[in-house]
Amino acid sequence: MMKKEEAGMTGLQRSLCDTIFINAQEPMLVLGVDLQVLLVNNSALKLLGWTDGAINGKPASALVLEKDLKEFSDLAGLAAKNGVVRNYRFYMLTAAKSIVRLFLTAQALKDEAGGINGFCFYLSPVSPDEWSALKDPHVFRNAARKLGRLTSIGQLTSMFAHDIKNPLHVILSTSELLRAQEGQPEQVRAGAELIERNARRASKIVKTLLDFSRSGMCRLEPYPVADAAEYSLGLIDSALKAAKINVEKDFAQAPKVFLDPHYMHSVIYNLLNNAAQALDGRKNGAIKVSSGWLEAEQEVFLTIADNGPGLEPAMLENLFQPFFTTKENGTGLGLYLARQIIDEHGGRILVSSPPGGGASVSLRFKKTV
Ligand code: ADP
Repeated sequence: MMKKEEAGMTGLQRSLCDTIFINAQEPMLVLGVDLQVLLVNNSALKLLGWTDGAINGKPASALVLEKDLKEFSDLAGLAAKNGVVRNYRFYMLTAAKSIVRLFLTAQALKDEAGGINGFCFYLSPVSPDEWSALKDPHVFRNAARKLGRLTSIGQLTSMFAHDIKNPLHVILSTSELLRAQEGQPEQVRAGAELIERNARRASKIVKTLLDFSRSGMCRLEPYPVADAAEYSLGLIDSALKAAKINVEKDFAQAPKVFLDPHYMHSVIYNLLNNAAQALDGRKNGAIKVSSGWLEAEQEVFLTIADNGPGLEPAMLENLFQPFFTTKENGTGLGLYLARQIIDEHGGRILVSSPPGGGASVSLRFKKTV
């Protein structure tokens, strides 16, 4: 991880460098003005999956997607101009060519005369201080918009949801006990039932948040959408069989797309679940899951369509509002979170409902391999 010139450092300089750079917890990379890799610390090697030494001297094209190279050098240019750019949302390539989504802080390394020697990049899977960063005058313009995306949503929600889960459990079990006790006045029993019902609803919201969130970072990897659909179908298979819902699959050839399997399985599972719920109790209920490549749009699609009641035009406008639901026990978070996640994948989500009934939700991906 050290370039040979570093061997010329004094013992003190060397141990200082080891302590504050090489062994620092925060992943860091030092690039030259030409954006070639000069130094990498242990955390960055681990994060990006490189072995010691193999990354030294590599050009920026080994670190970022080709289409992002210009943005990467613009970011360095901005750091050169301002001294530092913090928490810039970016994707980097690992040694295995998967993508890691992170927040980059680029610090210009200047000599005494103010000339730029290179850049130190801090790679943070989560923005370390998203809110305080917004107050920093050097923060990239529009940072607020760029920051509040999936990784932070995932981490925040999983943090909150875990914290809320335990007190909720206490409320739920106590109200159950209270309601079950014999000889209670009717008012107390009815009150306990009301508390229990609402606590159940809150628990369901927490469960949805936990299903959709996770504490780790969003990691995009090349993946066939059909495989993601198969996996999610497997999760819901027994429920579909029990409800006598027929499933038709039509997976055509399509390039792999960059996606985070964990998040994508949650999205697809939720769409299948919505379709199943719309078909509940209907005769000849059917779900069609199809995928393929759209030449005109240059997109991979994954569509989940059902022959249920479909969606009212007024509903179409509200579907993606958080907490919008038409179900007694719904959370109204499924489609909202699905859109956040698909946005994060650089894709889009289209909903349609033909006049004859039925609903169709189509996920579109542009980031193909
Ligand atoms: P939830 O399922 O908890 O209500 P969602 O955000 O997943 O939350 O869905 C929001 C609303 O969209 C649902 O309550 C329902 O009214 C409508 N909806 C979603 N999918 C379908 C579908 N396949 N057919 C009919 N309505 C649907």
